[in-house]
Amino acid sequence: MATQSFIDTDPARRAQLLHGAAVAAQIKLEATREVERLWKDHQVRPCLAAVRVGDDPASAVYVRNKIKASAEVGIRSEHHALTATTNSIELLDLIASLNDRDDVDGILVQLPLPAEIDADKIIEAVDPQKDVDGFHPLNVGRLALGRPAFAPCTPAGVIELLDRSGIPIAGAGACVVGRSQIVGRPMAQLLLQRDATVTVCHSRTRDLAAVTRAADLLIVAIGRPGFIGREHIKPGATVIDVGMNSVTDEAVARELFGADAEKRIEIISKRGYTLVGDVNPAEADAVAGRRTPVPGGVGLLTVAMLLRNTVKAAKLRRGME
Ligand code: NDP
Repeated sequence: MATQSFIDTDPARRAQLLHGAAVAAQIKLEATREVERLWKDHQVRPCLAAVRVGDDPASAVYVRNKIKASAEVGIRSEHHALTATTNSIELLDLIASLNDRDDVDGILVQLPLPAEIDADKIIEAVDPQKDVDGFHPLNVGRLALGRPAFAPCTPAGVIELLDRSGIPIAGAGACVVGRSQIVGRPMAQLLLQRDATVTVCHSRTRDLAAVTRAADLLIVAIGRPGFIGREHIKPGATVIDVGMNSVTDEAVARELFGADAEKRIEIISKRGYTLVGDVNPAEADAVAGRRTPVPGGVGLLTVAMLLRNTVKAAKLRRGME
């Protein structure tokens, strides 16, 4: 079907935007229905415990958004905000008590943790059955083996976005730029599980543009504002921009946003920053077939998938899934 065609070979065409908001709303509605059903049939209300350490303002916003979204779908939540002076032993004690509690289904430890705390040790302490972020080595291993697991929320959200936008994954040439534990690596695993032919790039990749330009599906998570330009994109490709970077410089905004620059400059003057992805939107628009905007793309899906994982955890622990 022409509208579902995977590769658009007309390089003059402005890329279609893939809106994460609509897909996130759909996933949240499904989670709401599941929560209602769990209550009606089993008198179970899923509960998410969010743990945050220190005063990082971005982390505080992320956790607040997750708590608010939980309430919207009927998931009960707890916010454990610990002071920056909390040590590993105190944090491990809290995790142990949350692991033991039968009324807690999901545990999320907001990253980054203060430098003095060994994050790997904390992640490994979370009960894998309550690991709704999908970061515990057991879940990472299960994902790598292609077995059912809690998949990390951001890459799982990307898969939902592709599926629900009618973009085929099986057989596609997919390139993931970035190999972090939370985005790049699990993204590559999920794409492989869905029969894409996957290439993973990172800071040591030689001639990055030559590799990315071969991809039908380009997924970027590197944390560099507007880094991926026209030369990196195959005409007609689908470009998924996971990056979330704050840009405060008006000149940078002007360079990245072309016709939309004035709107962004207004946001900078009001708020002090504007959110920018890893892809140069003006350049991607001239070459790509589809792309996700920032904000309004992948970010909203991350929270929606966390809610879905929490419902899944509540069901799994009770043998309902
Ligand atoms: P990390 O810093 O953990 O990893 C960045 C990765 O990008 C590394 O693998 C690094 O390579 C690679 N990289 C850096 N520079 C280049 C380059 N010039 N060329 C090729 N590869 C490069 O970042 P995260 O994965 O945590 O996050 C990436 C972005 O995604 C950030 O902007 C973050 O804010 C955003 N993000 C968004 C989320 C959402 O919900 N939308 C959720 C999580 C993250 P190497 O391994 O060699 O160092």
